[in-house]
Amino acid sequence: MPTILAFAEARAGQLRKVALEAVTAARQLAGGDQVHAVLVGEGGIGAHAAALGQHGADVVHVCEHAGFARHNPEALAALLAAAANATGARVVVLPASAHGKDVAPRVAAKLKVGLAADLTAVAFEGDAIVGRHPVNTGKVLATVTLTAKPAVVTMRPGAVPPAAHPKAGTVQALAPVGDPSASRVVTTTLVQGNTAKLDLGEAPVIVTGGRGLKAAEHFAIVEALAEAFGNAAVGATRAVTDDGWRPHSDQIGQTGRLVSPDLYIAVGVSGAIQHLAGMRNSKTIVAINKDKEAPIFKIADYGIAGDAFEVVPKLTEAVKAARAQS
Ligand code: FAD
Repeated sequence: MPTILAFAEARAGQLRKVALEAVTAARQLAGGDQVHAVLVGEGGIGAHAAALGQHGADVVHVCEHAGFARHNPEALAALLAAAANATGARVVVLPASAHGKDVAPRVAAKLKVGLAADLTAVAFEGDAIVGRHPVNTGKVLATVTLTAKPAVVTMRPGAVPPAAHPKAGTVQALAPVGDPSASRVVTTTLVQGNTAKLDLGEAPVIVTGGRGLKAAEHFAIVEALAEAFGNAAVGATRAVTDDGWRPHSDQIGQTGRLVSPDLYIAVGVSGAIQHLAGMRNSKTIVAINKDKEAPIFKIADYGIAGDAFEVVPKLTEAVKAARAQS
């Protein structure tokens, strides 16, 4: 029976949201066929297998090895390619995360097939796999057809939100291919680029500041609003990161992070096409801008035409009051 194989990405012993998204995408592709997930990390990572079963994995292959404590693309690609062969995978689904983007081409090369990268949708059409891939900052949607078997795809983070679909999640131990500790690529340290408590890719709420804030120190009002939500990360436009007001790891857009939180609040952001490319898939978009003609209002679900320095503190108090009551 053909299977759909999903790579369940973990970092520092924790399952990432994109892992559940990959399993959900695999479940949607599988129909009545089986979904197998591959979960890799150092000792103890197998504890997350149940969560993958809850999102649609029939079988979770767990590989625990000290050599997988940090990003190990060579050993991981060898493992995933071997798992694809062993399970008769028809499709291999990985996230288009920084990690997945490094591993997926290696997996495709080992399997001697092509790769369809950064898809926002994927489905069977007859015997082929057809994916949608936004190009030119989302102005054009390319349709990519894969006929080789297996098809290797990466899914854009946030494109397929995690959905509960309880399955057995039967755990099987998976042996590494060779010695993961002997890889030619060795990750020695992991530097946390984003200064926020929550990673931009994981946060359900993002508050982004633009050049309208006028100075680095004025980001305090954006941080206070994020803090009031309790589950928000702070993002920035490129104008801001280029000026050194925020680190480049906070940048959202075509040349920054691609995000799709439940709630995106843009403060003093004009809405340039390159910025929209990184956040237009957010579920609800709120824009605060003193120019009511600003392009950001065209994609905003809610807009406040006003001065950020007056509006944001009031919004922060309102969020605090609402949370205090709930
Ligand atoms: P501005 O465009 O200057 O907008 C500031 C906004 O703040 C204005 O709309 C103004 O009305 C408003 N404002 C001013 N004062 C207040 C106030 N007191 N209260 C409320 N509102 C106020 N940009 C990105 O963000 N991400 C990218 O990844 C990215 N990649 C790029 C790649 C390329 C190849 C190129 C050419 C550009 C890229 N850019 C990117 C830059 C992009 O084109 C814009 O220049 C940038 O997004 C503008 O940032 P901004 O909205 O903060 O600033």
